[in-house]
Amino acid sequence: MPFTLNGNDVCQPTHPTPLPHPYWVAFSPSVAKLIDVELGVNGLPKDPEWLDVLAGNQLNVGELLFTSPISTAYSGHQFGSWAGQLGDGRAILLGDVNNLELQLKGAGRTHYSRMGDGRAVLRSSIREFLCSEAMHALGIPTSRALSVIGSKQAVRRETIETAAICSRIAPSFIRIGHFEHFASLQNITRLKELADLLITNFYPQSSAEKDSYLNLFKEIGERNAKLVAQWQSVGFCHGVLNSDNISALGLTIDYGPFGFLDSFEIDHICNHSDHGGRYAYHRQPQIMHWNMACLASAMLPLIQLEYSSEESQMLLRSTLEEFPTAYAKEWQKIFRSKLGLQSEEDGDIALIERLLQAMHDSRVDFTNFFRSLSSVKKDSQLIEIEQRNQFIDRKNIDQWFGDYINRLQSEYLNDESRKELMNQINPKYILRNHLAQDAIEKAQRDDFSEVERLHRMLSRPFDEQAAFDDYSKPPPVDIERVAVSCSS
Ligand code: AMP
Ligand code: MG
Repeated sequence: MPFTLNGNDVCQPTHPTPLPHPYWVAFSPSVAKLIDVELGVNGLPKDPEWLDVLAGNQLNVGELLFTSPISTAYSGHQFGSWAGQLGDGRAILLGDVNNLELQLKGAGRTHYSRMGDGRAVLRSSIREFLCSEAMHALGIPTSRALSVIGSKQAVRRETIETAAICSRIAPSFIRIGHFEHFASLQNITRLKELADLLITNFYPQSSAEKDSYLNLFKEIGERNAKLVAQWQSVGFCHGVLNSDNISALGLTIDYGPFGFLDSFEIDHICNHSDHGGRYAYHRQPQIMHWNMACLASAMLPLIQLEYSSEESQMLLRSTLEEFPTAYAKEWQKIFRSKLGLQSEEDGDIALIERLLQAMHDSRVDFTNFFRSLSSVKKDSQLIEIEQRNQFIDRKNIDQWFGDYINRLQSEYLNDESRKELMNQINPKYILRNHLAQDAIEKAQRDDFSEVERLHRMLSRPFDEQAAFDDYSKPPPVDIERVAVSCSS
């Protein structure tokens, strides 16, 4: 969708800084199709000028001309504290193609770069590329990634690394931080324009004679509640759930030090800069709720256009209180499906929670356990269930499997059909940190084949892929904890 707010309080014209001697590191043909990029037989764009466009070196290719690239202003709360103005410090919105925004992340300094260099490193660009595409294939709303372009240009982080640009696509990159920005400036005209733009383009059902903005708030909350439930269901930890990294469309955006759980540890922290564990796995739902409270406070002036201050606060508060229920409803629905339960029974949630507690206590591999659960049959005998061996408290898990098999008796689907459905929700392949790390290290030696292999594998996470059998294994014990730096 075209970013239709104009004015230098909202955005700044920004030209990408050319990336010297660019080359392809990764490319997603399925994303290219979304923006009508014609592909050659090698799966790359037919028109070689696309390389220069995606490297930020030129603004036209074929008939396409990006006339007014911009970077946008937003603010936000980082790690729970108000951080003031942030903005697109290194992401440049080239423009729209087919109603999708095309952004170059790492394309050089912008008006909002503050102390940063406007660049992204190869490591983080590959991680964003692979994870965006993996999340999409898992059925989780996300920005998409079109390409990673590399260069030998040096970039200083904790060590010297090389620069890269990840190009990404979304219907819109509007964030909670955009609302917070205009609210902090008490610019109600802008706030209203922003809300109207979202309603017109993405939330038309919110539009009403009265309460459009309250409806919008409710729907943004619902989308993000569902999103977190989906993250939890695949063991995804975002890592930096600051309000400037929360999409107003309920998409996963701004991949940084994210991580998928290997062994299940409910309080796992994937971002090594997150000392207090604010963004630990089990806190994500609560934190998303907190971010919605930031949105509520930013939208207050809009609600006050129709109600008194007191009524507005009351309405926003009661809408905000619906978040945990919306989240729980989605979480329960997904985890029931992960267990292969089509019907709903009273004890189901306790059954799920007991399982998660046992998995946590024994640090059982999250992905593999759920994937393997579909092998349990209605007439399985405890002794035949191999998964028991992964648990230390055998008595407890035997009790659980006994109850699970009992519960399966009231399911109408036979074992085979249930297995099929379960394998469509419990992935076999996720972007494990050690796999990404291996692909990155090869790429840093100019071998991009592993990035391509992972990309291919992750595009079919629910299918058995014999060639990738080893990739579904948990990491070797000595490298289980790959610490991921926030600097990217
Ligand atoms: P993040 O948490 O990575 O989404 O980034 C937080 C803020 O820092 C955003 O405003 C980014 O645009 C900005 N930022 C991060 N890295 C850089 C960089 N290398 N140069 C300029 N701005 C950056
Ligand atoms: Mg960000």
